[in-house]
Amino acid sequence: MQTLTLNSGVQMPALGLGVFQTPPQETRAAVTTALELGYRHIDTAAAYGNEREVGEAIRDSKVPRHDIFIETKIWISDYGYDATLHGFDKSAAKLGVDQIDLLILHQALPSDFDRTVAAYRALEKLLADGRVRAIGVSNFMADHLTALLDATSVVPAVNQVEIHPYFQQRAVLDFDDQHGILNQAWSPIGGITFYPGYGEDRKSVLEDPAVTRIAEAHGKSPAQVLLRWGLQHGRSVIPKSTRHERIAENLDVFDFELTADELAALDALETGRRGGPEPETVTLAAYGRAIPEA
Ligand code: NDP
Repeated sequence: MQTLTLNSGVQMPALGLGVFQTPPQETRAAVTTALELGYRHIDTAAAYGNEREVGEAIRDSKVPRHDIFIETKIWISDYGYDATLHGFDKSAAKLGVDQIDLLILHQALPSDFDRTVAAYRALEKLLADGRVRAIGVSNFMADHLTALLDATSVVPAVNQVEIHPYFQQRAVLDFDDQHGILNQAWSPIGGITFYPGYGEDRKSVLEDPAVTRIAEAHGKSPAQVLLRWGLQHGRSVIPKSTRHERIAENLDVFDFELTADELAALDALETGRRGGPEPETVTLAAYGRAIPEA
C-alpha cells in the first residue's frame, strides 16, 4: 500500500475505505472485507452512525491495531472546546480505541467561526496529549483555512473535500498545497454525481466518455481510473463500497499508471458544479443534530 506522509510526519495509507451511507448493519462486513483484502485505512465520522461497527470489525480482524489507520470526524453539533473533547471521548469509546490516528472537523461553521476555532483548539489539545496522532479538517475553503491558521497553532494535516473530475476545487487544493495540508478526496470516484440528490440531469462521472476511453486503454474500470487520477495528483482517496467485488476493485489500482495526457484529459472535465452542501452555508440550525453518547 502506498503511503503519504502528513505534515506531522505520520504515515497514512493513501487509499482507504469510506463508510458514509454504509448502514451500520453492513459496516462490519464491509470493513472486514476491506481489511482482509489489504486496506489499512478506514474513514468514518461521528455523524455516520457506524463508528461502533467499524471498531468491531477492526477488533475482530487479524490485523494488529497499529497497522490500521482510523480516521473519524467531529460533527458540528459537538463543536466548542469542551464539547469537542467530549466528542473525541464518544468516538473513541464507540470505536473501542484509546487513540485515533486522524481526527478532523467535519465542516467549518462560517457563521459561528469562534466555535469552530474552539473545536480545533480541542483537537490541538488531543494531539498534544497523544490521544490522536494527527488532526485536520474537512470541507474547509481557503477563507476558512486562512481564518483558522490565524487563530490556531497546528497546521491541519489533511483537508478532506469533494474532489472528482467534475468538481476539482482548484483554489482550495492550491491553498492546501501551499500550506503543507494534504488533499483528501471525498467522492473520489464521483459517488455524489450519481446520488439522487445531485439533480435530475445528473450524469455519473464513471460514464463520462473520457473516463471510459482511458479505462478501456488500460484494461481497467472507470472507478480504477478515477482513483489513479487522484493518487497520481498526490491525493488521498477514500472510495466507499459495500460490495466485495468493488471493494477489491477499488484497491487494485497500484499496477498501472495514467499518462500525462490522460491526467490532463481528466483535469479538463471540470464542470464547476458542487455536489455537496455549499460550505459557506453550513449552520447548526440547518445541519445540527445530536451525536448519541453510545
Ligand atoms: P464514492 O466516490 O466513494 O462513490 C461511492 C459510490 O460508488 C457508491 O454508490 C458505491 O456503491 C459506488 N461504487 C463504489 N465502487 C464502485 C466501483 N468500483 N464501480 C462502480 N461503482 C462503485 O463516493 P462517496 O460519496 O461515498 O465518498 C467516499 C467517502 O468519502 C465516504 O464514504 C466518506 O467516507 C467520505 N465522504 C466525506 C464527506 C465529507 O463531508 N467529509 C462527504 C461525502 C463522503 P456500492 O456501495 O453499492 O458499491
